[in-house]
Amino acid sequence: MRAAVVGPGGRYEVASVPDPSPGPGELLLRVTACGLCGSDVKAVTAMPQGVIMGHEFSGEVIAAETDAPQWSIGRHAAVLPVASCGTCEWCASGYMIHCSSARLIGLGGHGGGFAELVTVPAASAFPLPPDVDPAFGALVEPFAVGLHTVKAAALTAGDDVLVIGAGTVGLTTIAWARARGARRITAVDPVESRRAAAQSFGATDVLASVAEAEAGGYSVVAECVGKPGLLDGSVAAARPRGRVVVAGVCMEPTPLTSVLALMKEVSIGFAVYYTPADFQAVLSSFASGQIDPGPLVSRRLGLARLNEALDDLVQTATSAKTLIEPLPLLAAGQQEVAEAGGSHLAGRGLGNVVNAGQDEPAGRDLEGAQLAGDGGGDLPRGAVGDDDGADRIPAVRAGHAGHVRVADAVDRGEG
Ligand SMILES: [Zn+2]
Ligand SMILES: [Zn+2]
Repeated sequence: MRAAVVGPGGRYEVASVPDPSPGPGELLLRVTACGLCGSDVKAVTAMPQGVIMGHEFSGEVIAAETDAPQWSIGRHAAVLPVASCGTCEWCASGYMIHCSSARLIGLGGHGGGFAELVTVPAASAFPLPPDVDPAFGALVEPFAVGLHTVKAAALTAGDDVLVIGAGTVGLTTIAWARARGARRITAVDPVESRRAAAQSFGATDVLASVAEAEAGGYSVVAECVGKPGLLDGSVAAARPRGRVVVAGVCMEPTPLTSVLALMKEVSIGFAVYYTPADFQAVLSSFASGQIDPGPLVSRRLGLARLNEALDDLVQTATSAKTLIEPLPLLAAGQQEVAEAGGSHLAGRGLGNVVNAGQDEPAGRDLEGAQLAGDGGGDLPRGAVGDDDGADRIPAVRAGHAGHVRVADAVDRGEG
């Protein structure tokens, strides 16, 4: 199969690699779409060469080594990108991200979705409702991050919410705050186009800086950026007995004026990843129309343009969510030509390596695209910098020093 593998210098290369074959309890998926996110920017420079990344993906079942009846051939699945033991207390409670044997799919622990084919544990896959666009299965993951964030904040109807950062995490948090009936949703982002995106997802007010936020004005504050100083800013903005939840990944120490939090009795929590229940709720919201994920996507590109999409994400403040479609359909009137001397569909068995991002036509960018820049809140989550093979989550819990270089790469991309 063709896959975008990590090459030298934090670049992707489209290569021919052996087809994966499903082991017991696994599904073999033909990847429909795989989103590029800020975590990929952070992780790619530290990932071993040859790794297949991509953790926001959906696919069609083409083989199933499981008896679970929902997995018939041809079924479409969204993937919760964690492979874990399935039996410990964390797995049993849905918090498999805290399982001591958790491996991150697409972030070094297990092959990901920037490939034509991928194997995943059936336990990590969720059937897509029939009315949901199969490509939107790749958007379940980012919306699950937003849902997990508002749940961590115990956000309910009537809350006055401040969301700091209008990247992907901020936007999906805003969408869920609206879905849960927040009274007022104020989004903060220095980039005008991101503020406009925040409004399209349900923000009622927008600000360019946290300093403009009303001191003591918000019952819930969601910090979706992860930069030093924003925790203190969140506490300052919280009402007495307000809830602050941090979803942004801050790789440096951040000050906390503890007396201010104390005197207001502010609750400070953190949110990372999601649970299967979150995934299921997102799927239901897509199917019912409660959440429309479409505006999160700006364009759909083939594998060969992954580097270009990565560069856009790093360099442009208004970077948008790009979906990579490793096997795009030709039926949409697009002649998918020569990524490497042949069509996408003829590309199987391609023996050479080509530089991604050079020779694919630009014709598939969606018109009327809305942006969804990443505020940096979606995280590296431990897949990188670990010294035992770069795939274990406890490295994050331990604050492994290897992650710091990853953060440096990402800060350049934030607005
Ligand atoms: Zn992500
Ligand atoms: Zn477990």
